[in-house]
Amino acid sequence: MVVSATEPTPQEREEREAQQALAVAAQAGIHRLAIPTPFMVGRVNAYLIEDSPLTLVDSGPNSAKALDELEQALTARGHAVEDLELLVITHQHIDHFGLAAILARRSGAEVAALEAVAPFLASYGMEAELDDLFAERLMLRHGIPAEMVTVLRAVSAGFRAWGSSVEVTRPLADGGALELRDRTLRVLHRPGHSPSDTVFHDEQRSLLLAADHLIAHISSNPLLARPLDARADTDYDGPRPQALVTYIDSLEKTRAMELSLVLPGHGRPITDHVALIDERFRLHHRRAAKIGRLIASQPRTAHEIAQELWGNVAVTQAYLTLSEVLGHVDLLLRDGVVVEEELDGVVRFRAP
Ligand SMILES: [Zn+2]
Repeated sequence: MVVSATEPTPQEREEREAQQALAVAAQAGIHRLAIPTPFMVGRVNAYLIEDSPLTLVDSGPNSAKALDELEQALTARGHAVEDLELLVITHQHIDHFGLAAILARRSGAEVAALEAVAPFLASYGMEAELDDLFAERLMLRHGIPAEMVTVLRAVSAGFRAWGSSVEVTRPLADGGALELRDRTLRVLHRPGHSPSDTVFHDEQRSLLLAADHLIAHISSNPLLARPLDARADTDYDGPRPQALVTYIDSLEKTRAMELSLVLPGHGRPITDHVALIDERFRLHHRRAAKIGRLIASQPRTAHEIAQELWGNVAVTQAYLTLSEVLGHVDLLLRDGVVVEEELDGVVRFRAP
């Protein structure tokens, strides 16, 4: 078959659709500002809402480069950092909120986030330390060698400077409303990717600001994290949080919504969220079945399963792949097709 010069490639079509969707958002006064991050995920999407108050949803990480590009993007739209009146934080990951403290100080803007995540954001340094302790215990318990855990802790500590504590001045309740002059944003808690994921629904425009709850080009990883209600200045040693089970519940809720446009925290806009969520459900189903077969063939630790599935990536991205395996094992445990047994502090999964 000869492809004529005017026929777009799938990538070109995707890009054109993304531009059209961003134009629809812009007509609603919402402008995507793609801010650089030092992380593998690449740029993070902040969204400027030209309304009263002038609102910025997420901010990018705490870096000079992120601030510089954000300032240029604001200037291009005729604004300055000092004009910002409301900063909204979608969840507890530093690529999304790291810059918020500097922006709030310079602009005097209010800072809105889910009430339950406010203590975490207020004491980010200490909370990050507790997160690392939690991760360390989990990694050792699930078969990651001690020397690897030590290296990963050092890497994680090095990342912390891209975050910064910020005071939430406008705590939000799940189901509550954020009222702007020209719109009402419904605040919906959709945990799973992180315990604090919050999405913002403009019912009138059939539009959802979804942050990392739903991303088009990557499956949003349900990272294992300490539960929000376990926040205290002490170590969390409770049951393992069921991040993927929680995430799937959250996706079911979003799937049931009528939406014409979803604006995610990374990458291009989503115009068919039902098809995308169904694709994610199939992926998790397939992955759980594959892990079930590995466990049926011989008992294994979660880290051994991760190595079997992803090879070296299970080393360089040990915590992420561990979270991925444990999330799917939780589905198998729930269905009774796998059991967990512990020997000398290390957990193995086997067929019942
Ligand atoms: Zn995130």
